[in-house]
Amino acid sequence: MRAMVLRAPGRPLELTELPDPEPGPGQVRIAVGACGVCRTDLHLLDGELPDPKLPVVPGHQVVGAVEALGEGAGRFAVGDRVGVPWLAWACGECRFCLSGRENLCERAEFTGYTRDGGYAELAVADERFCLPAPEGYGDVAFAPLLCAGLIGFRALGMTGEAERLGLFGFGASAHLVCQLAVHEGRRVFALTREGDDRAQGLARQLGAEWAGAVPADPDSARGSAAPPEPLDAAIIFAPAGELVPVALACLERGGVVVCAGIHMSAIPAFPYELLWEERAVRSVANLTRADGEEFVRLAPRVPVRAELQEYSLADAGHALEDLRRGRVRGAAVLNVRDGATGPG
Ligand SMILES: [Zn+2]
Ligand SMILES: [Zn+2]
Repeated sequence: MRAMVLRAPGRPLELTELPDPEPGPGQVRIAVGACGVCRTDLHLLDGELPDPKLPVVPGHQVVGAVEALGEGAGRFAVGDRVGVPWLAWACGECRFCLSGRENLCERAEFTGYTRDGGYAELAVADERFCLPAPEGYGDVAFAPLLCAGLIGFRALGMTGEAERLGLFGFGASAHLVCQLAVHEGRRVFALTREGDDRAQGLARQLGAEWAGAVPADPDSARGSAAPPEPLDAAIIFAPAGELVPVALACLERGGVVVCAGIHMSAIPAFPYELLWEERAVRSVANLTRADGEEFVRLAPRVPVRAELQEYSLADAGHALEDLRRGRVRGAAVLNVRDGATGPG
């Protein structure tokens, strides 16, 4: 099979011919139709994630049809369409797995990081961690739901009943969360890089009540600058630690800032008054299978639809570079089976 392989952090991905992977016990082999491109893949390339499998095939939003079954596998039939998310495996025995928090499993394995992922024509996955593809979603349309959508869904859950929701950074995940939040009757405020008219336009189109630039610092968040009202919760998608005090300064008392990314630059010191009055800062890590199943049931009812920017498998490097430079509107996806209609 052909795959895009990362040999070491800092190196470009290489289009490589690899032996077809064999499904192990309880695993399925999938003919990959599409694989989403995520900021986490950039952190992997840049060496910001500890101890990756190397070489590794990145990609953790993998969609395709089951085409071979490993020993004992029987949850899916050959031909069934499935998605493979970030959580590839959890032990089922540790204190976290035993308390409904397999996302925090001490021995967890991750797709496209500690195991090979979906930047390839074939992928193998533990059938218990695959999700059935929802009706009405092709491979390319389903792919971004598997991380951008799912992590956003979990992050949104951490905001409780927050009515006024701020989304800091309006990329793949935020544009899906925005649809969910609007569907739930929340009021969405989108905060983007200064002058990012494309992202702000997309946010308004998807139902955000207000879209504007992220305030430059906590002080300007409290002045007449954006956003127009205090927020009950904020989700930070951009990997920029300096946004944490800014988001806190935008919060109503009792509000929460949820950091949704796997990696963030250092959070600068800030005065305690920004946290005072029961404001909170927390992170969201990974996902559980229960999150995945719930989100896959919910997505068609909204319906959650990703804005798609398609690339071919061999163009994965370009997709990642576009993501790095903020040139992706919505979600970048590798169309592995059909190639791409061209970036942009
Ligand atoms: Zn565990
Ligand atoms: Zn991801």
